[in-house]
Amino acid sequence: PLDKDELGSKSWAFLHTMAAYYPDKPTKNQKADMNNFFHIFSKFYPCNICAEDLQEQLKHSPPETGSQEKLSQWLCRIHNEVNKKLGKAEFDCTLVNQRWRDGWLD
Ligand code: FAD
Repeated sequence: PLDKDELGSKSWAFLHTMAAYYPDKPTKNQKADMNNFFHIFSKFYPCNICAEDLQEQLKHSPPETGSQEKLSQWLCRIHNEVNKKLGKAEFDCTLVNQRWRDGWLD
């Protein structure tokens, strides 16, 4: 079985990659589906404390589904709140598309 950290890093990789390939101009249905996705994900994420915290985060900071940029930036902030809680370094959200979509520019 995966431990909490391995599950976490693999789950973040999936979530950030999904956000990176979300449409720039989503339809009404795509916006509603993505919003539902995160709410359902937060009910079944298989780490209880993580799932409960995510449900709280979604209450004060609902998914911003207006575009790829908005969704990726929102998810970056959500992840940074978890980083902060765990005493990890904050990630620079201006670099999120380089990290999860385009590759690092050098
Ligand atoms: P991770 O935090 O897993 O990050 C993986 C990679 O993502 C990093 O190497 C970095 O390149 C990139 N990254 C980091 N921050 C960002 C960002 N803000 N935006 C974009 N990319 C970024 N663990 C707990 O102990 N308690 C919890 O309550 C908890 N809640 C969680 C809630 C969710 C929804 C998820 C998915 C995971 C949660 N975890 C929790 C697990 C925790 O967030 C980490 O995944 C785990 O501690 C492993 O950390 P890591 O150092 O491998 O990097």
